[in-house]
Amino acid sequence: MPLNIMTLTRVDMPVSHAEGLKILERDQFCCRYCGLDGKASFENALVMSVDFVVPRARKGKKDPANLVACCRPCNMIKGTRVYKSLEDAKKYVLAQREEMRQAWESKRSHPVARPASA
Ligand SMILES: [Zn+2]
Repeated sequence: MPLNIMTLTRVDMPVSHAEGLKILERDQFCCRYCGLDGKASFENALVMSVDFVVPRARKGKKDPANLVACCRPCNMIKGTRVYKSLEDAKKYVLAQREEMRQAWESKRSHPVARPASA
């Protein structure tokens, strides 16, 4: 089933639809940071984008070597920092995600006390 990457055209993308699609295809539509599979569901497809490993704001080039498939949450977490390498960026993003997950889980396991309902 061909994946319709409509999201690429709906978002302010610094790369063209065709360029973005090439990168996503190369990376099998999987986020290079967290591994999210953009083909697994429509919801996943919606959050896929293309990331500049070295951000444009830091003179990162629009070159396939500097572009990776990336889900929006990872893209947001990664921000515009400059990392030594993709591996370095991945380590940072995954560590941040883990921290956020733990915070989320601790809130979940200690829900706000509510009066018992009958
Ligand atoms: Zn991700």
